[in-house]
Amino acid sequence: MTTERTSTPINPWAVAQQQFDLAADRLGLDRGLRKILREPERQLIVEFPVKMDDGNIEVFTGYRVQHNMSRGPAKGGIRYHQDVSLDEVKALAMWMTWKCAVVGIPYGGGKGGVIVDPSKLSRREVEGLTRRYTTEISLIIGPESDIPAPDVNTNAQTMAWIMDTYSMHAGHTVPGCVTGKPVSLGGSLGRREATGRGVTFTLEAAAEALGEKLEGQRVAIQGFGNVASYFADSARLDGVKVVAISDAYGAVANETGIDIPAAMKYAAAKHTIKGLPGTRPIDPAGLVETDCEILVPAALENQITVENAGRVTAHIVAEGANGPTTPEADRILHERGVFLIPDVLCNAGGVTVSYFEWVQALNRDRWDEATVNAKLRAIMLTAFDEVLTMSRVEDVDMRTAAYLLAVQRVADATAERGIYP
Ligand code: NAD
Repeated sequence: MTTERTSTPINPWAVAQQQFDLAADRLGLDRGLRKILREPERQLIVEFPVKMDDGNIEVFTGYRVQHNMSRGPAKGGIRYHQDVSLDEVKALAMWMTWKCAVVGIPYGGGKGGVIVDPSKLSRREVEGLTRRYTTEISLIIGPESDIPAPDVNTNAQTMAWIMDTYSMHAGHTVPGCVTGKPVSLGGSLGRREATGRGVTFTLEAAAEALGEKLEGQRVAIQGFGNVASYFADSARLDGVKVVAISDAYGAVANETGIDIPAAMKYAAAKHTIKGLPGTRPIDPAGLVETDCEILVPAALENQITVENAGRVTAHIVAEGANGPTTPEADRILHERGVFLIPDVLCNAGGVTVSYFEWVQALNRDRWDEATVNAKLRAIMLTAFDEVLTMSRVEDVDMRTAAYLLAVQRVADATAERGIYP
């Protein structure tokens, strides 16, 4: 394993390949299969113009990457962020391949992103950017080929614009071209809450595996967006106490427990949790070191690193975000006895209900929310059990176990299809 240098930014693609190499070594993966799975199948880079409100033209850079499609169409979100890079999108696409395989849904991995800070654009500008980006990537997306969904700074409204744009080109409505749509457009009931709810399901399973009760345990959450807020909202029903939350603008704490419904209302109105009544401000950089039993990173990559892993006090880390822990930090946490629920398992609830939404769209069907949640729970708990069993049989941490399962499944599918021509 290479040693991290903290002076240079950690490249998520290097992290993703390192995680894959560990699993491939352990599985003794065939050299040819290893070469195939180590790189994405397709990488599309688009430079596209958007007319801004002041009449000027700006050119934006966007990406869509399809990592592996042996098990089905590519699936993965679209991120709008100023720090998006091709390497980040490649890593996120690879993680999607493993995630879909861990939960056993018939998809490969894809991801998209645009380099933009959408908070600096008007709503009309974001709509224009979304519609032109959709047009550019419509070369490779579609209900049978690659199905986008929300990610950081994109939401149901973004998905509605993508579906509308794609449908305008097709000449008819194509509800299966995207998931995470508004419910009024065929979005699945329970999709908005699915990722956070899935994090809670895996946390419940982890507590059971460790012989613990969740009630009264203190939780610190990094991020307060879609994943983080709906995680907090579902986990509070298990009696956990959320003692600290953060977002891109600040962090707040209350040792006696933050009122989550009030925090969600406040964040919806103010677009931040900074200044949340009933809390005190804390240093956002120290959030992962908060004195607590459970840590839920649910914002961005590379947040738990060689720098701070030794100071994590939580004994369970549930990765709501994709790639929040570097390989070196992984090793430190494992040695310290921290039970880590890896991203490819922990946050797979989102893609699972996205799959339900796609099935409903293709079948022109509609499921009630109780059905969605029951099916989600069953899939998440089966996946958790399979990963836990693998980790016990192979005597490895949960991430390595999830990778052993996922990489083998994708390798089998790739090998069984054979090499064309
Ligand atoms: P979001 O845009 O709804 O929320 C992101 C949150 O992170 C916001 O509260 C933002 O302010 C905060 N944030 C940004 N930079 C931060 C920083 N430096 N420190 C602390 N907080 C910061 O995005 P989301 O959909 O909730 O995605 C969050 C993570 O979960 C990402 O890693 C994403 O890839 C992953 N994920 C999302 C889904 C989904 O269904 N939305 C599914 C699986 C995984």
